Amino acid sequence: MGFLQGKRALIVGLASQRSIAYGIAQAMHREGAQLAFTYQNEKLQSRVTDMAAEWQSSLTFPCDVSSDEQVTTAFHELQQHWDSLDIIVHSVAFAPADQLEGNYLDCVNRAGFAMAHDISSYSLCALAKAASPLLNPNGAIITLTYLGANRAIPNYNVMGVAKASLEANVRYLAASLGSRGIRVNGISAGPIRTLAASGIKDFRKMLSYDETANPLQKNITPLEVGNAAAFLCSDLASGITGQIVYVDAGFSSVALTGLDTQ
Ligand code: NAD
Repeated sequence: MGFLQGKRALIVGLASQRSIAYGIAQAMHREGAQLAFTYQNEKLQSRVTDMAAEWQSSLTFPCDVSSDEQVTTAFHELQQHWDSLDIIVHSVAFAPADQLEGNYLDCVNRAGFAMAHDISSYSLCALAKAASPLLNPNGAIITLTYLGANRAIPNYNVMGVAKASLEANVRYLAASLGSRGIRVNGISAGPIRTLAASGIKDFRKMLSYDETANPLQKNITPLEVGNAAAFLCSDLASGITGQIVYVDAGFSSVALTGLDTQ
C-alpha cells in the first residue's frame, strides 16, 4: 500500500510532461493518492485533461491564480466532487520575459515586480485561503522554489526576489495553519528544463554548469522532486513544517567547485 493511500491532492501547475508538477503527480499517484488538477487557461485544457487521464483522474478545472474569482470557482467546482482535501501542490511561477534577461537593476520595473510577486508568491496564500474550509487536519501544502531566493543568480532577477517572498510565505502559512495540524513546506529544486525555465536567459548554460558543479554530478529530474514532495505531503513527514528542503543534487551545499581545475 502506498504512503499516500486515501489522500486527495489538488495539483496546480501542470503544463507539460516536463513540468515539475508532472513528476509530483507521478509520485503521488504511485503512492496511492487520488488526484485533481487545475489548468491556467483554455490553451492548456486538453493537454492537462489528457495527462490527468494517465492517473485515472477526470477532475480538471480552469484556474488562473492571479484571479480571486477563478480561484474561488475552482474550489467550488472541486467541492462538487470531493467533500475534503488533504494536499495542495503549488507549482506555479511567472515573471514577464523582460525581467529575466540582463542586469537586475536595468530590467526590474514596478509592473514586472508586482506581477512576479502576485503570481509566484501571493497565489500560495490565495489557494490556501480558498482551500481552507476543505482542508483536512493533517493536510499538507507544498510549493516549489529555487536557490535564487537566497543567492543573486544571473538573469533570475525579480523571480529570485519573488521566491524569497514565497519562502517567507511558507513559514508564515505554516505558523498560521499549524494549530489545525496542516503543514506547509517548500522544495528548492535544482534546474530542470521546463516551459517556465526556458524563459530565463542562458538557462541551458545554468543546466550544464549545475551538472558539473554539484556533488552528484547530474541534473535532477521532475520525478526526484516528486518523490520528495510525496514524502513531505505524507503522514511520514508529520513533524516537518515551515521548511525549505533542497532537491538539487547538493548544489546549494558546496562552493568553489572546479577550483582544482584552475
Ligand atoms: P512549467 O512551465 O512546467 O510550470 C509552470 C506552471 O505555472 C505552468 O503550469 C503554468 O500554467 C503555471 N502558471 C503560470 N502563471 C499562472 C497563472 N497566472 N495561473 C495559473 N497557473 C500559472 O515549469 P516548472 O519549472 O515545472 O515550474 C513549476 C514551479 O517550479 C515554478 O514555481 C518554478 O519556479 C519552480 N522551479 C522550477 C525550476 C526549474 O528549473 N524548472 C527550479 C526550481 C523551481
